[in-house]
Amino acid sequence: MEPAEIASPVMGWVPGVVGARLRRGVELPNRRIVGETDRVVHLIPVPATETMPEHLTALCDLEIRPGDAEHVDAGTGMPCIPCLNAVPRPDTTGVSEAADPR
Ligand SMILES: [Zn+2]
Repeated sequence: MEPAEIASPVMGWVPGVVGARLRRGVELPNRRIVGETDRVVHLIPVPATETMPEHLTALCDLEIRPGDAEHVDAGTGMPCIPCLNAVPRPDTTGVSEAADPR
């Protein structure tokens, strides 16, 4: 059996991670207003809690208030490159730099 589905041009969405794009006109933490160039799709790890936190943190460390962003489906829009680079790669073998057992 071959995989029937072709992955999105960008990459497959990582389980537990959703795509979100800032709404136009929202004020960023650095007080800039979101314009068209800011409308990239950030990847946000879904919190394990059931309650909506005050803000979500994208993989690129951008803090997003839930009302300031819209959910987007996989393969939609222009991805945020820092977020893509920060995606944990499950196929990486060997040591993880982030996890220290002690
Ligand atoms: Zn991002």
